[in-house]
Amino acid sequence: MSHQKNALPPVVVLVLAVVLAGYYFLQPGSQETKTTSPAPSGEFDASGGVMKIQFLDVGQGDAILVTSPEGKTMLYDGGRSTSRMKEHIEELGLTKLDIMVASHGDFDHINGLNEAVKLKPTYFINNGIAADTATYRKLIRAVKAAKTQGLVARDRNIELGSVKLHVFDIPKGLGDDQNANSVGILIERGSFKAFLGGDSEKDTMEGWLNQYSKVLKEVNVYKSAHHGSPHNDNAEFLSVVSPEVVVIGVGPNNYGHPSEEAIDLYKKYSEHLYRTDLNGMVTIEVDASGHYRTTTEKGREE
Ligand SMILES: [Zn+2]
Repeated sequence: MSHQKNALPPVVVLVLAVVLAGYYFLQPGSQETKTTSPAPSGEFDASGGVMKIQFLDVGQGDAILVTSPEGKTMLYDGGRSTSRMKEHIEELGLTKLDIMVASHGDFDHINGLNEAVKLKPTYFINNGIAADTATYRKLIRAVKAAKTQGLVARDRNIELGSVKLHVFDIPKGLGDDQNANSVGILIERGSFKAFLGGDSEKDTMEGWLNQYSKVLKEVNVYKSAHHGSPHNDNAEFLSVVSPEVVVIGVGPNNYGHPSEEAIDLYKKYSEHLYRTDLNGMVTIEVDASGHYRTTTEKGREE
C-alpha cells in the first residue's frame, strides 16, 4: 500500500509517457534499427526483449528454432541431417531445449531431431502417428531415454517464457497420412503471429480454417507447407492467413521444390518471400509489442 502514496496522478503519467515515447523515437539508435532490414510492421523496440524465430538452413527439409526473450527454446523439426543439426546447435550455442516438435514423421523433418534430442528437451510434441521407419523408431527410443515427456498435438496453449504457443488440433478424418497429420503451431507475441504447419495438405488446412479461421487471420510470418510443393498451400488458405512474410525451407531436391505455382501463389498473397536455399538462415526478430524485422544470412528476398 505504501506505493500508493508515491503514485503520480494519471494525467502526469500520461504526459510523461507521451514525452518519453517522443524522446525514444528521436534517438538515433532506433532510427538505425529501422533501416537494417524490412520492418513491415513498424518501429522496432528491443528494450522489452526480443523473440527470435530462426529458419535454419538444413537443405531440403525444415528446422525452425524459436527463442523467447527469456531464453526458452522450441525446435520445430530438425531437418534431414544429424551432422547439419549438430553444426547449427554448436554455432547457435544451444545447450538446452525446452520443447522439441516433430511436425510429422517424415525423414526430412525428424532425422536431425536424433541429434537435437541429445539436449534432453523437456517436452516432445508430435502427431501421435508412428512412422514405419528406422529413423522414427530411433527417435522415439532416444526421446524415452532422455526422459522427455511426449505430448500428442491437440488444442492447447503453452507458454514459452512470455511467448504464447497455440498448438492446434489435428483435423479429424485424415487417416494415417503423415503430411496430412502435420502439427500446426501459432506463435504469438504482442500483435505478432507466425504459423508453422509442417507439410500439411489442403484437407488439413481446410480443417484448420473451419476451427481456427479467426486466429489464423493476418499472420505476419508463415512457413511454406511442404517446401513449396504445388499441392499443399492454396489460395483459400493463404487468402485468410494473408502473410506478410513467407519462408520456404528448401535445398537441392528431385521434386522440383519450390514449384513455380507455389512461388506465384506466395507472391500473390504475401509481400516478402525468402527461401533457405538462397538466403541461408532467415531470422525474424520480434519486439514486445509485436513489431518485427527480418534478416537473412545471404542474398536478397525472391
Ligand atoms: Zn517435408
